[in-house]
Amino acid sequence: MAARRPLIVGNWKMNGLTASLGEATALAGKVKAQTPAAELGLCPPATLVAAMAATLKGTGIGVGGQDCHAKASGAHTGDISAEALKDAGAIYVLTGHSERRTDHAETDATVRAKAQAAHRAGLIAIVCVGETLAQRDANETLKVVSAQLRGSLPDDATAANTVVAYEPVWAIGTGRTPTEAQVAEVHAAMRQELKARFDDGEGFRLLYGGSVKPDNAKSLMAVADVDGALVGGASLKANDFWPIIEAKGFK
Ligand code: PEP
Repeated sequence: MAARRPLIVGNWKMNGLTASLGEATALAGKVKAQTPAAELGLCPPATLVAAMAATLKGTGIGVGGQDCHAKASGAHTGDISAEALKDAGAIYVLTGHSERRTDHAETDATVRAKAQAAHRAGLIAIVCVGETLAQRDANETLKVVSAQLRGSLPDDATAANTVVAYEPVWAIGTGRTPTEAQVAEVHAAMRQELKARFDDGEGFRLLYGGSVKPDNAKSLMAVADVDGALVGGASLKANDFWPIIEAKGFK
């Protein structure tokens, strides 16, 4: 089994206007000067996917959507298909981010259908899972995350077309993070689950997400089975994102 290439992805959420593309250009400038060991991606709002993909063409930084509809086309006002994201230049799409699960009542079945749509369109699905604070306090973390993983990953998932992001809901945007031991425990359980279900389960990249910042990136990225990060707030500015990218080293 080939070594897993680290992956660090920025999720801009509902932030960013055309002027923010300057941050993508600034990031590309840093990448040109020093080649990161990690594969890099940025997921801007849908309105910026095409422009960002054009801006970053040839830089090695991929662009992703933050969500997609399960269907390829049709009467779904306001939704975006995986095919449309691909057409706009995306290579990734997030599915099942906790903000989608909460704000739009997305279930594991919905997330699974969206991941399948991503694969149909030739995108890499970054499938997000994670427990709430109440679930962690009730000692249910491993049970919850394993069930989400089972329910959210389609049978056609492979190490090439799917990445899993563990994002404790209580750590997203709060400045709080689990301990390294807690992250290690969840990632080990996810790895076990993936190996039991998929022939190439060892090859799936597992990202940690939730308040990854320049000052905690190095220790979080060093945890066993953490193959990279999904980064929200700290990905909006190239100068904040860069030290996180540095944590996985350079080529
Ligand atoms: C996220 O949006 O996936 C995320 C992890 O956000 P933050 O880094 O801001 O906690």
